[in-house]
Amino acid sequence: MRIDLHTHSSASDGTDTPGDLVREAASAGLDVVALTDHDAMSGWAEAREVADEVGITLVPGLEISTRHGHRGVHLLGYLPDPTDPALALELDRILEGRTARTPAIVAALRAHGVDITEDDVRRESGGSVAAGRPHVADALARLGVVRDRTEAFATLLSPGQPGYVNRYASALEDMIPLLVGAGGVAVLAHPWGRGSRSVLSAEALAGLKDLGLAGIEVDHQDHSAADRAELRGIAADLDLVVTGSSDHHGLGKVDHDLGVNTTDPEQYDRLLSLARNPLDG
Ligand code: AMP
Ligand code: ZN
Ligand code: FE
Ligand code: FE
Repeated sequence: MRIDLHTHSSASDGTDTPGDLVREAASAGLDVVALTDHDAMSGWAEAREVADEVGITLVPGLEISTRHGHRGVHLLGYLPDPTDPALALELDRILEGRTARTPAIVAALRAHGVDITEDDVRRESGGSVAAGRPHVADALARLGVVRDRTEAFATLLSPGQPGYVNRYASALEDMIPLLVGAGGVAVLAHPWGRGSRSVLSAEALAGLKDLGLAGIEVDHQDHSAADRAELRGIAADLDLVVTGSSDHHGLGKVDHDLGVNTTDPEQYDRLLSLARNPLDG
């Protein structure tokens, strides 16, 4: 069994449509793939349809933008009830923050002398409800301002750079119980990727477990071999589920091919057993 529990489609900032992503997952030899778009569940229906067609198991999920100790933290949610009113309301608030940020980024870049318009960005974010910096990056690349997303993030779109604008994200300690209340399973995405280690110590993870955190994504490209070993030890101590995944973004992120990291079948079974609703229910 090959299981990849973290991927993005064009419903957020991946470059494949949800259907194409699922087709590629089947071609890549995966048995299970989770679709976890940023702050959005709008890709589920199409992904499910194609999963049935090609005979692969789809786990519906999402990757929620949260904040913890003044740092952005990504929370993976698996199998939440998409009609849960409290979850829907909070996701709307995050999506509104994303929508409002795009014109602010465009204005900041224009003030910096970059000739980019909101239309340029809209062309890239077309099918997505979760407008993001990667769409701005794609627009900058198409305009010839940068080579690719990597250069856009390295020079213009990261904190402290001319095109950086903050946006709303939920408090992590509120989102975990909210997600669990919606029947979902809460797993921290790449907890020690990109500097988050400072706010997600073993002690902090223990506290989050008390709030309902079920697991941590250990095998992720943003974690070194040493990080992975240490996180695996913490997960064992705290009895947290351990996952591994690609965080695939299509052509939007290099070195994140489908199946580059995978989840152990026993850990996957445990994760499923913690959801309120069964996979096909
Ligand atoms: P946003 O959520 O709109 O603020 O954008 C953050 C997203 O940008 C995350 O999903 C990352 O996957 C993506 N991202 C961050 N840094 C890079 C990079 N250097 N290259 C490509 N994508 C990136
Ligand atoms: Zn992304
Ligand atoms: Fe993430
Ligand atoms: Fe992701």
